[in-house]
Amino acid sequence: MNPSYYVTTPIYYVNAEPHIGHAYTYCVADTLTRFHRLRGCDVWLVTGTDEHGEKIVEAAAARGIAPRAFTDEISAQFRAVWDEVGLRADRFVRTTDADHARNVQAILQRVHDAGWIELRSYDGLYCVGCERFLTDRDLENGRCRDHERVPEARRESNYFFLMSRAFGWLRDHIEQSPGFIRPARYRNETLAMLRDESGLGDLSISRPKSRLDWGIELPFDRDHVCYVWFDALISYLTGAGYPDDPTFPARWASAEHLIGKDILKPHTIFWPIMLKAAGLAPPRHISVHGYWNIEGRKMSKSLANVLSPLTMRDRYGFEAFRYAALREMSFGLDADLRDASLVERINADLANNLGNLVSRTLNLTERFTGGRVPAPDEGATGEPERELAALAAQTVTSVETLVTDLELHRALEEIFRLVDAANRLMDLRAPWKAAKDPAGEPIVRTTLHAACETLRVVALLLAPFLPVACAEILARIGLPSALETARLPGDALRWGAVPVGAPTRKGSPLFPRLEARKP
Ligand SMILES: [Zn+2]
Repeated sequence: MNPSYYVTTPIYYVNAEPHIGHAYTYCVADTLTRFHRLRGCDVWLVTGTDEHGEKIVEAAAARGIAPRAFTDEISAQFRAVWDEVGLRADRFVRTTDADHARNVQAILQRVHDAGWIELRSYDGLYCVGCERFLTDRDLENGRCRDHERVPEARRESNYFFLMSRAFGWLRDHIEQSPGFIRPARYRNETLAMLRDESGLGDLSISRPKSRLDWGIELPFDRDHVCYVWFDALISYLTGAGYPDDPTFPARWASAEHLIGKDILKPHTIFWPIMLKAAGLAPPRHISVHGYWNIEGRKMSKSLANVLSPLTMRDRYGFEAFRYAALREMSFGLDADLRDASLVERINADLANNLGNLVSRTLNLTERFTGGRVPAPDEGATGEPERELAALAAQTVTSVETLVTDLELHRALEEIFRLVDAANRLMDLRAPWKAAKDPAGEPIVRTTLHAACETLRVVALLLAPFLPVACAEILARIGLPSALETARLPGDALRWGAVPVGAPTRKGSPLFPRLEARKP
């Protein structure tokens, strides 16, 4: 049996339309899925929409429609955007799906039966934005820090999940599993939250139906509905086929959650303890990325600078945007999205470096080697050719390590160093000049063979990041199905495996040059 790889994006809350933050996480998930497929894994990617809670009721009321109609509309909008930019999941979970509601109730019942849930009456300041009671540290000048709104004084009977009893267990688990929360800064942040328990406590997991009836009923008290986080997190189980799908255990053992740093606490504290209470293991990785700022400013509705994935597609081409986003953000840190730097990145790496290697290699094979990948000549193979082959081997190894460690931007840097080296070999050997002299024929063959081989290795390594363009490159060197059989590590990525005589085709430029915006 192949190993499993199960990856999730957050289940996006449908109070807003999809923006580039959502798209970035999805692109990372898609890249990791393709990379693990290359490593021979059975992969499974889940995304979806989180549709319950007070904010949804408010947003629906503002539009004068029922919550169900509202969430149907926004959830469909998310799916339509992902379709349009070519991002596809194996399961799209809506928290309003019937199988999900069943799972939430089954888990609640199980956790309740195991003695982890208790009814308490509670007085406090409640923020509708956060959908929870606030503590002193959530407040600034009497307002919620995150939502800048004045919380309401409320008294309620709520069910509490007795999360605090497992803080010690969670601390131990995090300390013993270095890759559980990554990068390390978020592991440290979680440990700091756990050291200072005054900010955490137990978790209120119900809302009285008299106040909010848009949610999943508690199976042991039909007068209450489940709190949104408890409901949303369980979507990761629903997406993996919990409880009955035979692949669920293997998938779950390999689970990787990709999240933005704004939802650290629910994922690194609530979720592992919920799973423990339900008798399930924590996910393998919780991988946390930073924020995208736009032209140096925070992305926010009030600044009207929230960017849609479709805007990116129209401006750069979605795949070029995807490349630039993965290249510009160091996973875990904030990054700044600037039009000028994206244009420069796309032009330099894709149009010039890679695009140039593709177009000149295939133009020259058409002119000088009969539109076929030529055989190299041993006598014409010198130190520069051997250095390129060595660099290719080294790149395969380092990319595998870097992607596994989520250093996606550095993996891309390495791949483009190889592209660069192949372009330099072309400049050095100048096959277009060598072709003018009959004695230069072995140089032409050897150089173009090395260039085709570089294109093959680069396209296989880069395909997880740039799937459409790399499929096209492989097709143009006569290997349209190379991706289906390539395995990492394995012979397919070894230098010299390009089939001599494969038909080449030059085609149109892969990446058009972008114009900088007028200031
Ligand atoms: Zn708030």
